[in-house]
Formats: sequence, C-alpha cells, structure tokens
Amino acid sequence: MEPASRQFDAALRIVRELQAAGYEAYLAGGCVRDLLLGREPTDYDVATAASPDVVLGLFPRTFAVGAHFGVVLVATGGAADASAEAGAKLGEPEYLVTEVATFRSDGAYSDGRHPDAVRYTTNAEEDVKRRDFTINGLLIDPLRVGNDLGSAVIDYVGGLGDLEAGIVRAIGHAEERFLEDHLRMLRGVRFAARFGFELAEGTKAAIQRLAKNTEAVSRERVRDELTKMLTEGQARKAFELLDATGLLAEVLPEVAKMKGVEQPAQYHPEGDVWVHTLGLLGQLEAGVPLTLAWGALLHDVGKPPTFRRAPDRIRFNGHVEVGVAMAAEICRRFRFSNEDTHQILALVENHMRFADAARMKTSTLKRFFRLEDFEQHLALHRMDCMAGSGNLEHWEFVRERWMAMPEETVRPPALITGRELIAAGYKPGAEFKQMLRAVEDAQLEGTIETAEEALLMVKDRFPVTGS
Ligand code: ATP
Ligand code: MG
Repeated sequence: MEPASRQFDAALRIVRELQAAGYEAYLAGGCVRDLLLGREPTDYDVATAASPDVVLGLFPRTFAVGAHFGVVLVATGGAADASAEAGAKLGEPEYLVTEVATFRSDGAYSDGRHPDAVRYTTNAEEDVKRRDFTINGLLIDPLRVGNDLGSAVIDYVGGLGDLEAGIVRAIGHAEERFLEDHLRMLRGVRFAARFGFELAEGTKAAIQRLAKNTEAVSRERVRDELTKMLTEGQARKAFELLDATGLLAEVLPEVAKMKGVEQPAQYHPEGDVWVHTLGLLGQLEAGVPLTLAWGALLHDVGKPPTFRRAPDRIRFNGHVEVGVAMAAEICRRFRFSNEDTHQILALVENHMRFADAARMKTSTLKRFFRLEDFEQHLALHRMDCMAGSGNLEHWEFVRERWMAMPEETVRPPALITGRELIAAGYKPGAEFKQMLRAVEDAQLEGTIETAEEALLMVKDRFPVTGS
C-alpha cells in the first residue's frame, strides 16, 4: 500500500533527504495511526534525530515557527517527481508545508500545560515516550513502506497491539502523564470516540481521579477539543465518555445537570433531558458546522433550572430565555468569537418557534426565514424532533414554505426610506423606525407594492403633526 497523496510524497522526500544526510527520520504520531487504520491522514508529521539547526540548513525553504519546541516547517514543491529544491520556490502556489520535529524529551511540567523545558535527543524511543497515547506513539519509515506497512513500523510503546484491540492507553504511568498535561484527558476521550475505541482500564480510572484538574487548562483549548468531539461524527459516544469519566461535570456542568431531569412522556417518550440531548448528538454528522453542533448540545440547557411539576404536567416555563442566558455565559467562558456566539444563541433562542409557524403572519414567517443560516435552524429542529416524538409535521411545513419562498420576497428592497418621509413633511425622530417597520410589514404581507402605496399608508396611520 503506497498512499499517493501529495502530502505523503512531500514527507517522504524530506525523510529521504534527512536519512541521506545521516540522520534517523520517520513519519510519526497521528499519521502513522491513521495509515494503519486505513484512514486518510490529515497531515504527515516527520520526526528526526537532526537538530532544528540542521533541518534549517538542509532545506532551502524553512520556517522556524516552533523552533523552541524543535519544530521546523519545511516547504516543498508538491509535484511528485520534482526534487525538494526544485519545488520549493516560494510564490509557487503548489508548495506544501510539512512539520519536521526534532526528537525530544520534555522536561518537568509544573503548570499542567507546558513542559518547563524541552531537551533534544537523538533517541527515537525517548521521543515517542513523551507522546500521549500508545496509538499516537508509532513511527514508520516511509522508505520501507513498500507492500507491507506493518513491517515498516517501529513500536516502542505497544501501540500496534492497542490499535488492533481498539484501545486508547496512556504511554507510561497514566496519572503522571495526565498530571503533566491535563488536556490529554480530553484528547483521550476524543480519540476513543472518533475511532470507536475503549479507554484502557487504568487510563480511564486515572481520568476519573484527575478530572477536576481540567480547571487549569485554558478555556480555548478545552473548547477546541469539545468542538472536535462534536463535529467528528461521534459526538454521542464522546459525550457519553465525558460523562463516564467525570469530565463532563468539570467542563460543562450545565450540561451534566441535564441528567435525571424528567420530561413529560407524551412529548418526550425517549426519557430525560440528557437522554434527549444525546439523541441529538447522535445525529451530528462529521463536518457539521460547529455552531449547529453547539446549538444542538445547548438547545435545552435552560431546562434543568426551570423544571417544575405543575398540576397538569411537568413544565419548563421560560427554558428558552434561561437557556439563551446560560448559553451566552458558556460561549463567553469558552471565548467563542462574536459571530459563532451570535449563531449558537440564535439557535437556542428560536428552537421552539417551529411549532408556531403555521399560525404566523406571513411577515413574521418571512422575518423568521431571515435568520442567518436558516438551514441550521431547520436542521436543529429536525434533530430535536427525531430525538423525541419523531413527528416531523412542523419541520415539513416550515421547510416547504422556506423552499417555496424566493429570496427577493423574504428580503425585498425597502419601498421607502427616511428620506421620503422627510420629503413628505415628517420630522426625523424615533417614530421613523415604527413607520418604516409598518411599511415593511405591509410589504412582506403583500398588501402594498410601491413607494406611493407606502406613503399613502404612512400618511393614513401617522398623521403629520404641526410643522
Ligand atoms: P489529529 O488527527 O486529531 O490531528 P493527531 O494524533 O495527529 O490527531 P495532533 O494534535 O496533531 O494529534 O498531534 C500530533 C502528535 O503529537 C500526536 O499523535 C501525539 O503523538 C503528539 N501529541 C499531541 N498533543 C500531545 C499532548 N498534549 N501530549 C503528548 N503528546 C501529544
Ligand atoms: Mg494531527
């Protein structure tokens, strides 16, 4: 098996060059794991005994961005037949960038996030031992891949066996490794979910003991891990594992509180709020927009604090408003961009409106359709139904109306503006907004179509006062 991608070719040429110069060099980490699993790696990382200075000197086009961690980016031409030198002219749009990392062993970690110092080594075994999980600790010599991938693999950590058995196991002493870098606990859950693997007993137990330590990890890194879990197609499994390891209560206590919160059986035969939410996560496909994924996770986050046993049935009055406020706090805490926050909150805020759509005035419905990325609202509602009663009546109604509604009738150009109002004798003021809104309402309803009709309507409803 010879992976034919351009990235593989680029990495292969770099390894060949390093070996020719007398340095040990391999493909390392995630790409080896993915090749052995028969998955297309996203990128190919090279690990080598050559020091960063040597790497910088050996290749004509390099970027020493992570040099203090021993990482050098090497740009090469992409054409499979070109030599590295010939292809690496900057400005050539075809060039590829490969990460080349010098073998290293990380010093002590005193902050639970970063090694205090890194020490370069020429010993490949030391390098893999500082990596996180056995399945991520494999090396492969791409020059020896030939027909038998397995024989080209160098395995100092038992990663081949664990790959075969479907196990995510920390390299070395699990607790020590998680104390060094707390983020590894989340990475472990993510890899187990992504590949449908089990966490090794000791690895899982160590996470359960140390879950509290995730507090020390930067919120952005936690957010990025959670986003990957939500958008890689195995979100349900990932969140079940976050729950089983105790990580969920640490990173998203608001979501953990969904557990055991009963719902009225006639609307939610599936069970409590947590079971329902898992039902949505189970429908998130790989590559789903992150805003939709987070919207699905948080759409009912306002239910636990609004739970009430009313005389007739269980009620969650105000769960949407409370949920929006809670989602806003979560987005702030995880430092989401304003744009992502806006969309996640819009999804939470509007998720109950589909049931009213059939009774909406045309203008209200059109304004509903104006929500940005409306297809995400549709998708969330569909998942919400499928995770519950399975009744898609409202979804079908809204989707049909939305598809049948041309963009120009949803967002028609304004018939009049403030300028026409002034020309008609109105004094600029707060009322302008109301007047223009009334005009737009009538326009969206289809009761007026021209600027003249708009002005007549305004004059009728808002008599010009004084002068
Ligand atoms: P993905 O497919 O998600 O990119 P990956 O295994 O390539 O998975 P990266 O984050 O790209 O993961 O890291 C590349 C390699 O670096 C890993 O396979 C692992 O060997 C090592 N590594 C990454 N992060 C850590 C960490 N926090 N602690 C120890 N080793 C790590
Ligand atoms: Mg990677």
